[in-house]
This record gives sequence, structure tokens and C-alpha cells, in this order.
Amino acid sequence: MSQHPAISPGRSAVVTGAASGIGLAAAQAFARAGMNVWLADLPGPALDAARAAVAELAAVEVRAVPTDVSDRGAVEALAAAVAKAGPPALVMLNAGIEAGGKLFSDADTWARILGTNLGGVVNGIHAFAPGMIEGGKPGAIIVTGSKQGITTPPGNAPYNVSKAGVKALTEALAHELRNREGCHTTAHLLIPGFVYTGLTKARGVTEKPAGAWTPDETVAFMLERLAAGDFYILCPDNETTRAQDAKRIAWAA
Ligand code: NAD
Repeated sequence: MSQHPAISPGRSAVVTGAASGIGLAAAQAFARAGMNVWLADLPGPALDAARAAVAELAAVEVRAVPTDVSDRGAVEALAAAVAKAGPPALVMLNAGIEAGGKLFSDADTWARILGTNLGGVVNGIHAFAPGMIEGGKPGAIIVTGSKQGITTPPGNAPYNVSKAGVKALTEALAHELRNREGCHTTAHLLIPGFVYTGLTKARGVTEKPAGAWTPDETVAFMLERLAAGDFYILCPDNETTRAQDAKRIAWAA
């Protein structure tokens, strides 16, 4: 399979939310492709275990940097550490939470969800994109959105709002990069279907629903569409996303 030119052995890939789920599967795929991988996630044993799980796959450099993506200074420090070996080829801004937020959830819940899901992407773009653009080499910034940022099913307002913002932000980034002379960095919005991960387990889903994708399947699809040059990497619907849509349509009727 041909690859996007940013997937390049010996160059660096940075993944936020890399300790589990889609982010961990992506970090593993980048390591298998021969890239040096930087894993960023909240501090804790999951991040240490993820570092070990990625490091055993390939003879590449794997670093785990405890980072709260909602903390601009922490993301800038991460970018400064990565930049010592040159700008990264690939940055995947993927960290995200649902945290059970509702329309009338308290201001702290809203701030936490927006600060992580949307603020984390703003921080990542500001910290990494200028160096990647100036570096002039092929690069890619992948942002993990959600279908819920487009279909906005009821009962999940803070998450939906954050992911709608992520979509608008990534479109703005793609526009900016396309119009920069000599810029070889591209932007992409990954929109997963229903993937069985920590995030969906936290909704009380205790086993993989029929038709739901695994993180590895999601990442394989992402790499295929990235190679094809897609901006929207829209994973195909599965039974669970269709059920969410049916609920939304019933509500909107
Ligand atoms: P996950 O819970 O397995 O992974 C999310 C990771 O983000 C965790 O390791 C978590 O510790 C980390 N994280 C949370 N807050 C953070 C912070 N402030 N700073 C750094 N890291 C932080 O869930 P996942 O499903 O792999 O989620 C990855 C992304 O995919 C999220 O943006 C999520 O919104 C999106 N998504 C998931 C699905 C799905 O069905 N699983 C569908 C659409 C979109």
C-alpha cells in the first residue's frame, strides 16, 4: 500500500490521547512504519504501559510525555522537546473526552470538555503547525473529530459542540495550509464511526457491539484514506452509528 509522504521512516510522529484506544493504535501503526513516536496523554500507568506496548513493536525511538492537552504551556513544552530533532512529520491531535456532559451541566464540566476536545486541538495546532510549515518537508496534521459534531444527536451537547468546533477548526487549518506557498503539510479530519474503546466503555457499553470497529480497523482505514489524500476521513457507518442517527432523526421529526 502506498503511504502519505508524511509516513516516513526515521521522522517523528506525535499522538495525543495515545495511552489507549484510537491514539494507541495509531502510535503502534506509526512505529511499525519506522517512525519515532511521541506519545502524549495524561500522566499515569496507562501512558507507561502504552509506551512499552509501542516500543516492543519496532526498533524506533518511543517517548511518553505526560501532557494535559488543555494546558497550553504543557503542549508548547512537548512541541519544544520534539523540535530538538526537527519538526515532526506527523501530528495526530486525538485526545478527547465525553465526561457525561449535558446541556445544563455545570460550567466546570463544559469547560473541561471544551478545553480538552477543542482547546487541546487549538493548542496542538499553534504549537506544532508553524514549525512544520517552515520545515518545508512533507507533513500531516490529523485531527480526530466525531460524527456527533455533524449530526449532533440529543443528550450530548458539550461533546457535540466541541466536535463541531473541531471540524470548523480543522477546515480552517486545511484552508490555511493549502494557500501557503511552499507548504507541504496537509490537514485531515478523522471522523470515526462507533469504535469500541475506553470512551465508549465509559458510556456503559460492556462489550463490542456488532459492527463496531476496533481501534486497529479505524487506523488502517485512516492510513488508507490518508494515502489517497482525503481531507475528510469519514469511517463508514456501522450498526451503532446508524442507531444513533435513527435516534436523532426520530427526535428531530
Ligand atoms: P479513549 O478513551 O480510549 O482514548 C482517549 C485518550 O485521551 C485517553 O487515553 C485519555 O487519557 C486521553 N485524554 C483525555 N483527556 C486528556 C487530556 N486532557 N490530555 C491528554 N490526553 C487526554 O477513547 P477513543 O475512543 O480512542 O478516543 C480518541 C478520540 O476519538 C477522541 O477524540 C474521541 O472523541 C474520538 N472519537 C471516538 C469515537 C468512538 O466511538 N470511540 C467516535 C468518534 C470520535
